[in-house]
Amino acid sequence: MSSATLTGACPECETDLTVPPVVQGETLACPECMLTLRVEDIQDGRLTLEMVEVQLRDWGQ
Ligand SMILES: [Zn+2]
Repeated sequence: MSSATLTGACPECETDLTVPPVVQGETLACPECMLTLRVEDIQDGRLTLEMVEVQLRDWGQ
C-alpha cells in the first residue's frame, strides 16, 4: 500500500503503462497503439489489462 500509481502492460503492443489509481472495470487507452483497455484485475499495484473492442453500435437492439 505505498505506490500512488499502478503499472501494467498493454496486451497488444506490450508497452509498459503507468497510470493513476483506477478501479477494476475501468477503461483506459494505450498511448502507443490507442487501443482501449479494460482493467480486469489489480494485484499488488499491477494491472491485468484486456483489450476492448470499441465499436459504434446502436444500443438496445
Ligand atoms: Zn498498446
